[in-house]
Amino acid sequence: MREHFELRRGDALGRIGALTVPRAGRIVETPALLPVINPNIRTVSPARLEAEFGAEALITNAYIIRKTADLRERAIAEGLHDMLEFSGAIFTDSGSFQLAEYGEIDVTTREILEFQHAIGSDVATPVDVPTPPDAAREAAEVDLETTRQALADAEAVDTGEMLVNAPIQGSTHLDLREEAARHADATDLDVFPVGAVVPLMNDYRYADVVDVVAAAKRGLGADAPVHLFGAGHPMMFALAVAMGCDVFDSAAYAIYARDDRYLTVRGTKHLDDVDYFPCECPVCAANDPTDVRAAADDERERLLAEHNLHVSYGELRRIKNAIREGSLLELVETRARGHPTMLDGYRALLDHTAEIERHDPASKGAFFYCSAESARRPEVVRHHDRIGRLDAPARLLVTAGSAPSDDYFDAAWRLLPPFGPVPRALSETYPFTAELPDRTDAAACEAAARGVAALVDANPATDVTVAHDDWPASALALLPDSVTVERLGARRDRDDD
Ligand SMILES: [Zn+2]
Repeated sequence: MREHFELRRGDALGRIGALTVPRAGRIVETPALLPVINPNIRTVSPARLEAEFGAEALITNAYIIRKTADLRERAIAEGLHDMLEFSGAIFTDSGSFQLAEYGEIDVTTREILEFQHAIGSDVATPVDVPTPPDAAREAAEVDLETTRQALADAEAVDTGEMLVNAPIQGSTHLDLREEAARHADATDLDVFPVGAVVPLMNDYRYADVVDVVAAAKRGLGADAPVHLFGAGHPMMFALAVAMGCDVFDSAAYAIYARDDRYLTVRGTKHLDDVDYFPCECPVCAANDPTDVRAAADDERERLLAEHNLHVSYGELRRIKNAIREGSLLELVETRARGHPTMLDGYRALLDHTAEIERHDPASKGAFFYCSAESARRPEVVRHHDRIGRLDAPARLLVTAGSAPSDDYFDAAWRLLPPFGPVPRALSETYPFTAELPDRTDAAACEAAARGVAALVDANPATDVTVAHDDWPASALALLPDSVTVERLGARRDRDDD
């Protein structure tokens, strides 16, 4: 177990954790958001971030500080915390981003780590090579070798109490991501950023983000804190947390504000297109869009940046609350309705249901069936995997109605979409207390039919009758041939004769 990261509560692959940052003397609760502070531009001062927004941590760029003579001198003389006026945990980046942008930088991992240590960084970064998405495999492999060397160099530097990132690269080659993660996990480094995903997010490729994170997670131990590098849009926080990301950084709050863009949990709006602010934050409560549009450039930028930060922190609080309640997947499902590409992301997450199921808590508050995607949730898969362990009697009725009046059957279980057969004794336990719409969709019935098939598979000697409530043909087609099928309406019709 990594001593500096403690898991406190989980839901799907999401978790509330405690990241101990010894050099800052702080325990940062995760999921955590690090606002990006450009050392040259202060849209919202770090002191205000701490006092008014509750920021426990931020990230700034050690490479820029080192390159800028006056900043470098001040940082060395005063230390980052005094220079920025921030007492929380300060993460620093190394210039890898500049390396990716401009092709080369004039600093080694040893030099930049020693510099980060000298200026009082709490969590530092070596010079890894961010390989963009869709890179040729050979190029990604060559870059990975350099990153691997950077991690080895980082391990050799005496960094004292400072934590050090072990970035995971590999472009969109999922096996390379997994291998890179396994390698990073085996180092004695501390925090694990999944790198070079910003181009994917800029292109709304959330399904690819999910696959890349899932690959990295497969290579990492459950106790590894994961930072989704460059992920700052609150729209995708819930999805990323559900995949197991613990730390985010937002440059978006400031960059978007500069372009008059207003962040929401459902996407981005341009200030010109907003007639009413759909938000409860202090900025939106005190101003209307006309006021903000009329404000001077720097004032407008500051107001939008503050709103963007409020939305981002608000979403993180909502996510933590959802983890506590066990309703994180319901929140992801809600966010998935904000944009079709987010729905792709959620569907991609459900492709990893088997991995999620291994970590998902067995009991939560309540399962809300809110869309066809709910039929693919880990709770459904878990029931189907375990249904063979239930003792099925010789003659079993699985019914969407009440138990039959005759005693032909040895037992009558519930036919409960999307789970399938559920013994009545389990009816009051999670997830079978699920709330479902009365107008059940085909996906829920099909999932229930797969549950019946799993039961029949495990109990070939059992004589199974399924009494359904007008299921669609697509679900009936999934029932094994050995099952006797009755429609409940038909049964009632016959009883009435
Ligand atoms: Zn607002």
